[in-house]
Amino acid sequence: MGTLQLEVVTPDKTVVSSETEMVVCPGVEGEFGVLPQHVSLLSALKIGALRYRVGGKDEYLFISGGFADVNNNIMTVLAESAERAADIDTARAQAAKERAEKRLTAHDEAVDMARAEASLTRAVSRLHVAALR
Ligand code: ATP
Repeated sequence: MGTLQLEVVTPDKTVVSSETEMVVCPGVEGEFGVLPQHVSLLSALKIGALRYRVGGKDEYLFISGGFADVNNNIMTVLAESAERAADIDTARAQAAKERAEKRLTAHDEAVDMARAEASLTRAVSRLHVAALR
């Protein structure tokens, strides 16, 4: 069946460039898996965990949403930010979580609730992915 080339790219850097046996992504309409020889696909992604298998072993990444494109056995994931589970700074994510929670419960009209909610979702997801390392 061969392999699928996975490229995970952010504005700063390439986070993953690897041959994989399988990728599971957080699509906006639900999680979906991609195997080698998959048909062409373009999907929006939400904040969450991306799982990919190399040599029978699962690896985990945090991604902050973005887009996944599958074409010719190459899967490209473009995300604003992405980190390997082992690279997640849990103290930073915990601090971001607490900051967002304070903003969401402050009853302050100046707080951008959607922004605080997105920040909280990123922080909780980072803590979840970090626990999978
Ligand atoms: P914070 O409030 O802590 O900055 P954030 O969710 O606003 O969190 P992002 O805008 O998603 O942060 O990311 C900004 C940059 O910082 C990206 O390069 C991202 O990979 C990195 N980053 C953010 N949080 C963490 C973390 N907990 N561990 C490792 N890298 C992080």
